[in-house]
Amino acid sequence: MDFELTMRQKILKDTAREMMEKEIIPIADEWDKNKLLHDRKHLKEVLDKLIPLGYVGATLPKELGGYGLDHVTYGILTEELFRAYASLGMVANLQNALGNIGVFGNDEQKKKFLPPMLKGEMIICMGVTEPNVGSNPAEMETLATLDGDYYVVNGTKAWITNGNLSDICVLVTQTKRGSGASGICHLIVERKDSPYEARELPKIGMRSCAELYFNNCRVPKENLLVPPGEGLKDILRGFEEMRSIMALGAAGISQAAIDASIRYAKQRHQFGKPIGRFQLIQEMIAEMIVETEISRLLGFRALSKIDKGVRCDSEASMAKFYSVEAAVRVTYKAIQIHGAMGLSEELPLERYFRDARTWTIPDGTTQIQKLIVGRNALGMSALR
Ligand SMILES: Cc1cc2nc3c(=O)[nH]c(=O)nc-3n(C[C@H](O)[C@H](O)[C@H](O)COP(=O)(O)OP(=O)(O)OC[C@H]3O[C@@H](n4cnc5c(N)ncnc54)[C@H](O)[C@@H]3O)c2cc1C
Repeated sequence: MDFELTMRQKILKDTAREMMEKEIIPIADEWDKNKLLHDRKHLKEVLDKLIPLGYVGATLPKELGGYGLDHVTYGILTEELFRAYASLGMVANLQNALGNIGVFGNDEQKKKFLPPMLKGEMIICMGVTEPNVGSNPAEMETLATLDGDYYVVNGTKAWITNGNLSDICVLVTQTKRGSGASGICHLIVERKDSPYEARELPKIGMRSCAELYFNNCRVPKENLLVPPGEGLKDILRGFEEMRSIMALGAAGISQAAIDASIRYAKQRHQFGKPIGRFQLIQEMIAEMIVETEISRLLGFRALSKIDKGVRCDSEASMAKFYSVEAAVRVTYKAIQIHGAMGLSEELPLERYFRDARTWTIPDGTTQIQKLIVGRNALGMSALR
């Protein structure tokens, strides 16, 4: 067990921190208020800053055009990005996953889709959730039926990150009505050839979600990424990585709230002294620091298992639910330390709180994560 970062990890972390301080933190509030991440030109502008640091294709092998980083190192980068601007972190994290084409794609698919996605020229989204189907994707209703050389897709996907701006959607869909997990596949839907409509779904934090409509959308059958029967298993495996990374993202939001609180507690005076001298303020700061350290440690433990090729659904679920719920508590306390100023739109505290609160839902709610940990501890499932 070694809790020290390697020299390379330290350099990457410091470089990312420096870029975020200079380029991202100064624009985050304005971009969030004006929803500039919803604008293609603005999104490309920030992706161009993130890509050279390894934020897209981070763990993709170098021979496929990626950075070949281990997952722990990607976690370190993720924390820095979320500390700066969590909504951008969500968008970049989704682009980084490359719709799993780097993992499941055949040679043709990798050759066609990876290069433009890695350059941020092709924006990707991943469509699993539907208006009637969230926590139990096995019940999904979107249907793709084979008609000659094409799948014909009908259905609606909801809360899809990057959905509105997407050029391609990796669509997780049923192929035979009522067949549950055995019919679920992944299809690469290219919007220019197989058009789908999108509508932005505004929400309190982590902007950039949309509803997508597939209406007799014809997708060439060579765009099948994961065959029927494998689709659900592959999403569940992918969740381990996503959930473990989220723990570092949540630690990033919490760290931003801690840094702001320490600054404010030193500078704000009441009763003739800095509020940081009051024991109740120090108690809040100590609790915030401990909860954030636990989030980090749980996240890194799960990521190091992934790096070793060891399955870690319990560890990933623990990391996800603890860290996002901790981020809600930490950002709540940060607002408390700032008094009324904490609620002001002139400071980023309310954004941190909105983003943290949003994150207890995606990639499996807190309740679903607890049921996974409980199932593995007890050897019995509450989900079936
Ligand atoms: C910011 C954000 C980004 C997202 N990005 C994407 C994306 O890119 N692609 C995508 O496909 N989806 C995305 N989603 C959707 C997300 O994955 C779903 O919202 C999530 O899986 C929960 O589904 P739901 O909202 O339908 O809630 P539901 O499943 O309807 O759950 C409602 C409530 O019931 C509880 N519940 C459900 N089942 C059980 C149970 N068995 N036991 C106890 N409690 C239960 C839940 O915990 C929750 O409290 C995103 C959502 C958000 C907020």
